[in-house]
Amino acid sequence: MNVLIVFAHPEPKSLSASLRNVAVQELEAAGHTVQVSDLYAMRWKSEIDRADFPSLSPDERLLPVAASKHAFDSDTLTDDVKTEIEKLLWADTLILQFPLWWFTMPAILKGWVDRVFAYGFAYGVGEHSDKRWGDRYGEGTLVGKRAMLIVTAGGWEEHYSPRGINGPIDDLLFPINHGILYYPGYEVLPPYVTYSTDRFDEQRFEAAAEILRDRMRTLETTRPIAYRRQNGGDYHIPTMQLRAELGDPGTSGFALHLKEAADADMGFQHPGQLLARR
Ligand code: FAD
Repeated sequence: MNVLIVFAHPEPKSLSASLRNVAVQELEAAGHTVQVSDLYAMRWKSEIDRADFPSLSPDERLLPVAASKHAFDSDTLTDDVKTEIEKLLWADTLILQFPLWWFTMPAILKGWVDRVFAYGFAYGVGEHSDKRWGDRYGEGTLVGKRAMLIVTAGGWEEHYSPRGINGPIDDLLFPINHGILYYPGYEVLPPYVTYSTDRFDEQRFEAAAEILRDRMRTLETTRPIAYRRQNGGDYHIPTMQLRAELGDPGTSGFALHLKEAADADMGFQHPGQLLARR
């Protein structure tokens, strides 16, 4: 299997870098081929601006969506973006690894998504009509591939539990897991999250590393999160609202977009069910 790790931490001696090394070592030991996009080391340009669209004339207004579509269609995306798209097409599994900064990914990684997930590649794919709303959420360019997050968080696990003050970790990561990864077609595995990282020592590191090794060993067999498919009949088109008869009574918010437990048993997984997430 080909695995791409997109890594966002500025310090090569960080805890995140040590965990990345653990993941790479375990994957390679299992015979997988791994590429790492180390965004800080690559000095990744994170902002979308005119420089991304060299074919745009200086007096033309920049419309980022239209410019992205034109650049993808005409094969005029910049070389750094094209290289990352090639890596995504090469990889059977994508891993995004980052420290949780202000409850989400660092800006450099968000900027990688903004620029690499181009129109026609990651969004704006498929037929848009009164019967279909494009190929997304379970369909799309990256269908058949898997994706997963490796996250370090300074806060305690309890702070991210269902009643924790920070909000449940699955809610905080929903915009990434569902909005960025499931959207263009990835099957999304439950995230690996390690907590209280600012208190790490050798013993805690070894415990976290062992869980991560296990997640890498089971990358091909771990059941994905049971998100509903957009075009599977669960949603009204074009309002894209979940049909009234679906969803467990009392469920609201992000959790509505998970299949009910009975369906989830058919080869899917709810994020909270994975014991290995510590
Ligand atoms: P490092 O800082 O590199 O290391 C953390 C600890 O692990 C250190 O004590 C270090 O000595 C030890 N360590 C490193 N490598 C090893 C090793 N190989 N073996 C043993 N010990 C090791 N946290 C939240 O929970 N929520 C937030 O919203 C949030 N926002 C943040 C915003 C910013 C801008 C910043 C800077 C931090 C934020 N944090 C937040 C905390 C952040 O998530 C943690 O600092 C981060 O996850 C730690 O990962 P790291 O790779 O940077 O660790």
